[in-house]
Amino acid sequence: MNDKAFNAFAMAQAQFDKVADFLELDAGTRELLRDPLREYQFSIPVRMDDGIMKVFRGFRVQHNDARGPAKGGIRFHPQETVDTVRALSMWMTWKCAVVDIPLGGGKGGVICDPHNLSMHEQEQICRGWVRRLARNVGPVTDVPAPDVMTSAQHMLWMLDEYEQIHGGKYPGFITGKPVGMGGSLGRTEATGFGVIYTVREALKELEIRPQDTTASVQGFGNVAHYAIRLYQQIGGKVNCVSSWDQQDQISYSFRREAGIDLDELLGITDRFGGIDKAKAKGLGYEVLPGEAWLEQDVEILIPAALENQITGDNAPRISEKVKIIAEGANGPTTPEADKVIEERGIFLIPDFLANAGGVTCSYFEQVQSNMNYFWEKDEVLGKLDVKMTAAFIAVSDLARKRKIYMRDAAYVIAINRVAQACKARGWA
Ligand code: NAD
Repeated sequence: MNDKAFNAFAMAQAQFDKVADFLELDAGTRELLRDPLREYQFSIPVRMDDGIMKVFRGFRVQHNDARGPAKGGIRFHPQETVDTVRALSMWMTWKCAVVDIPLGGGKGGVICDPHNLSMHEQEQICRGWVRRLARNVGPVTDVPAPDVMTSAQHMLWMLDEYEQIHGGKYPGFITGKPVGMGGSLGRTEATGFGVIYTVREALKELEIRPQDTTASVQGFGNVAHYAIRLYQQIGGKVNCVSSWDQQDQISYSFRREAGIDLDELLGITDRFGGIDKAKAKGLGYEVLPGEAWLEQDVEILIPAALENQITGDNAPRISEKVKIIAEGANGPTTPEADKVIEERGIFLIPDFLANAGGVTCSYFEQVQSNMNYFWEKDEVLGKLDVKMTAAFIAVSDLARKRKIYMRDAAYVIAINRVAQACKARGWA
């Protein structure tokens, strides 16, 4: 277990404990919600393209399913650990509850680096993951989805394996499928767009016009891409983004004071969201150290890469100008950094609210898959906006009325809903 991974779960539990005290939760409910209901850890043997057998470690954690089937993505990451997955599964429980969709929280992962795997090897990992769990996941128990370094193609391989094992068509088993193969229009945009629906509402509350703001974004993958696109459409300017450089094994920030050109940068970005730094220089971007995105003189910061990125060490370097931090990534802010952000009075839109657009659209995908009737993209995005806006308003109203930090307000609403469901079922 590495420290970073340990911190993610410790952090999730610390956040939970604080709100459990605030809600005066009884000891039984606390004990139930502090740890996952079920966890699976297993080996996936794969014959590699060179004929050698290699064993990959896989996980699935179901934190809570009192409000509905567990729901959550599957990550492929070389530093994946069961503790990261535990933390992420707990956050999924709160995320589904805060946007009030009838799902619980789960998460999965495989320790692997897709940068070094052929598509055939990745397919074997996907199929192996499903073979290990075919009786423990499914449309009415636990519904997986894509996450870091997994895609619609991975989901389709997993669905195919599940359907072969169970001998039928079960499109509601998994979400994030390709459009035309049970996927929902709007799913690709959903998380990033959802982040910006909440930013738009926060700006309204602060009486700031989007066109008077600039943002800096950490990461340049799926979430960052669509967040930037919608934010630019509502009038905002992005002057800095960052990404992981696979060759140098460090991250870099890319800044252009006049504003980045999204499509131009996407044209020099690999399929893992890594920006080519030589080409970026050629296009007039300053190439800066990885953490420079955090130090920009902007109104809005959007961490959209990984967990544990805004820490007690670097939070004091956040510019005085920053008014809003919208957490596109899961768990990007440590509790020490939270203290700094709260003291500074920065309007924080916590991860499990800001990035809930993905799971909300996944829920819509599952509904459409089960009906075998698919909505137009505008209908999906319209429904998404309604859900995200309602959730944002409920959280910000509570934060204002009770004079509490936005993260705590979101937790109070979510944990209360899950605790009530557990009580109603007689679990607590
Ligand atoms: P992705 O794999 O598409 O992109 C990740 C991006 O982060 C890439 O640009 C990569 O280069 C960059 N990155 C990685 N490490 C970095 C570092 N140390 N510094 C700077 N950049 C770094 O992933 P994604 O789907 O965009 O997910 C990003 C985050 O959002 C994750 O925390 C994920 O759990 C969360 N999230 C994703 C979704 C979704 O629907 N995709 C939904 C909810 C939450």
